[in-house]
Amino acid sequence: MKILVTGGAGFIGSNFVIHLLEKYPDYQVVNLDKLTYAGNLMNLRQLEENPGHTFIQSDICDRDTVGELVSGVDAVINFAAETHVDNSIAKADVFIETNVRGLNVLLDEARRHSVPRFIQISTDEVYGSIEEGSFTEDSPLQPSSPYSASKAAGDLLCRAYATTYGLPVIITRSSNNFGPYQHPEKLIPLFLTCALEDKKLPLYGSGSNVRDWIYVKDNSEGIDLILHEGKPGETYNIGGGNEKTNLEITELILHKLGKDMSLVDYVEDRPGHDLRYSLDCRK
Ligand code: NAD
Repeated sequence: MKILVTGGAGFIGSNFVIHLLEKYPDYQVVNLDKLTYAGNLMNLRQLEENPGHTFIQSDICDRDTVGELVSGVDAVINFAAETHVDNSIAKADVFIETNVRGLNVLLDEARRHSVPRFIQISTDEVYGSIEEGSFTEDSPLQPSSPYSASKAAGDLLCRAYATTYGLPVIITRSSNNFGPYQHPEKLIPLFLTCALEDKKLPLYGSGSNVRDWIYVKDNSEGIDLILHEGKPGETYNIGGGNEKTNLEITELILHKLGKDMSLVDYVEDRPGHDLRYSLDCRK
């Protein structure tokens, strides 16, 4: 297969590209990434000599480049996004630009070149918060932050392209990922680096928010399965079945590093902070 991966220098995208080329050494991956503050070529250093990997620094909003790269591929997998909720609360523009307009460019060009498979990497955050039970793929989209609203808008756009134009789009919605190459702005790497340096760990509210955690390599396996066997037009939740409060994660990190809870700094809660995410992953 020849695959266009976008956002493949970020956390999940780089893990996925490495997974794919290790498992399918004859595949060709063209990796388009803008290298925003979140993208890091060091994540891909083990692929430097790999002839199956071509890196292109560009923007998914750049229609000419996207059109050129989409032509002749067997699949497009879009990881490219602005992803940090706090940044979206400070300023949403770039989230709309990349997560909605950039996705629209990808969908248009995939349609123009009759790409046989388009996978949009979305998030459990599009469902909003749930106090009891778990969201299925049919649950309503009720995003709370500008980030999750931009991702939900992207999902609806994908659905419209599948329905209106018959574009073979598949959406994956995963829970919180952890593992190598995650940007240190995110909870686990941030708390690990703070704790290693004996700096305060800024925990929102009382730390009672619940997240389901999935190891990034398990998410890669899920996306791999969907790439090869997923049904066009469908959405698939990918979770870890591993719900923990942020306080539990904090305690775990401090315990593993032999530090105590005095390092925790309980800071004012994030506005609109979803209490609990939970996915039903039976499908
Ligand atoms: P990340 O922030 O680590 O990486 C995003 C990548 O996209 C970066 O390499 C960045 O340079 C690139 N990018 C940003 N704007 C671009 C543009 N306009 N054109 C081209 N490239 C651009 O993000 P991540 O954590 O790896 O998330 C990847 C995808 O998975 C996102 O769509 C996100 O919504 C989704 N997701 C993430 C998680 C998680 O826990 N990290 C959970 C569920 C879903």
